[in-house]
Amino acid sequence: MNLNFSEEELAFQQEVREFLAHNLPPHIVEATANNSSVFVEKDVALEWQAILVKKGWAVPQWPVKHGGTDWTPTQKYIFSRECYQAGAPMLIPLGLLMLAPVIMAFGSEEQKAEYLPKILSGEHYWCQGYSEPGAGSDLASLKLKAERDGDHYVVNGSKIWTTHAHLADHIFCLVRTDNSAKPQAGISFLLVDMDTPGISVEPIITMAGDHEVNQVFFDDVRVPVGNLIGEENKGWSYAKYLLEFERGGGFSAHRIRHEMDQLSGLLRRAREENPHFDTNGDIARRVARIEIDLKALEITELRILSDLSGGGNPGPESSILKVTTVRLEQAVNELAVDVLGYTGFVMEPVPDGNPVRADYVSSVVPRYLNNRAASIFGGSQEIQRNIIARMVLGL
Ligand SMILES: Cc1cc2nc3c(=O)[nH]c(=O)nc-3n(C[C@H](O)[C@H](O)[C@H](O)COP(=O)(O)OP(=O)(O)OC[C@H]3O[C@@H](n4cnc5c(N)ncnc54)[C@H](O)[C@@H]3O)c2cc1C
Repeated sequence: MNLNFSEEELAFQQEVREFLAHNLPPHIVEATANNSSVFVEKDVALEWQAILVKKGWAVPQWPVKHGGTDWTPTQKYIFSRECYQAGAPMLIPLGLLMLAPVIMAFGSEEQKAEYLPKILSGEHYWCQGYSEPGAGSDLASLKLKAERDGDHYVVNGSKIWTTHAHLADHIFCLVRTDNSAKPQAGISFLLVDMDTPGISVEPIITMAGDHEVNQVFFDDVRVPVGNLIGEENKGWSYAKYLLEFERGGGFSAHRIRHEMDQLSGLLRRAREENPHFDTNGDIARRVARIEIDLKALEITELRILSDLSGGGNPGPESSILKVTTVRLEQAVNELAVDVLGYTGFVMEPVPDGNPVRADYVSSVVPRYLNNRAASIFGGSQEIQRNIIARMVLGL
């Protein structure tokens, strides 16, 4: 595989760099550096999304007819890498990169016309209603009941761990429409307006102190039948399709590379300040291990990217990306906490003149705590390994 960029690709890289230099506002870069949560603040993400929409670069992954780009996989890779290096935030993927591919693949023409432009513009802000109390890894046992009543479904039950449900105006839900068949065969995929009477949202505060996740209750919620995606009781295959994008739809190696660059500033400072720092070489070995694994992740992402160039979906290999990305990110988080030692608990900004960005230091421990959840959300590491064993290795 030739990993060198061509002349045209280098020119594109320069174009992206110039765009970012002139259009990425410093307050968005600062908010991104300060962020220790899974997503940046909604307002920040939407502001950056609007800037990218204006340029036509918000969703390079989408087909051109819906507002995407005709970029090659390498251009998409370059764009993603340049954005991270410039300190731009990740756009919130729930609508843009998770629901939208499902609507494009399985939605009706009316649904495409109704929802895709609003997802792109940020007018609709979506959350994901998959997990329930008692139905996480064993998702097919979900119980949120949707019963037909004329031209509506009446929905009762609850969803849990719903990220940003308190901020979202819409939720895409897996609902139980048939109890008589085997569990996977009685599930449907429903789009619900969060303003519908009967929906209530209760916060769940994580150990990092963040309010990201919620429990959402449905009490006789009436949803028009027209909000059903595809066919009734076929929702399980649409749900799995979406999960492939959730687990492996983007490039994570850039994000981890950016974290490692920041960490190297911390390491430099620790070495300068403490002559006894890492005398046994343990930290250096961990850095080397991460660098090797990061290179392997980069190459794997490029390989999957090249497979996707034909317009396919990520497939079960996305589980490999999820397992590797989470393991690496958490290794970087742990290393940063160990390098900081007790100073990591100082939540005040460090004094001016410090070689390391103050906002980075004060976000190390919150980021470490927040990112523990990455082993669980989007399907736990154990479940991903089961998928790799079965679907990728054929064991
Ligand atoms: C921060 C956060 C955000 C989330 N956001 C969302 C969201 O927006 N929308 C949404 O729908 N869900 C969301 N989730 C839910 C997430 O997808 C589930 O928590 C996850 O699928 C695990 O389900 P569970 O919590 O029921 O744990 P369980 O399924 O009960 O698993 C408990 C433990 O048992 C292990 N285990 C279970 N079954 C097996 C098996 N067959 N083999 C080996 N090990 C197994 C698991 O790996 C795990 O360690 C979020 C979760 C978190 C923590």
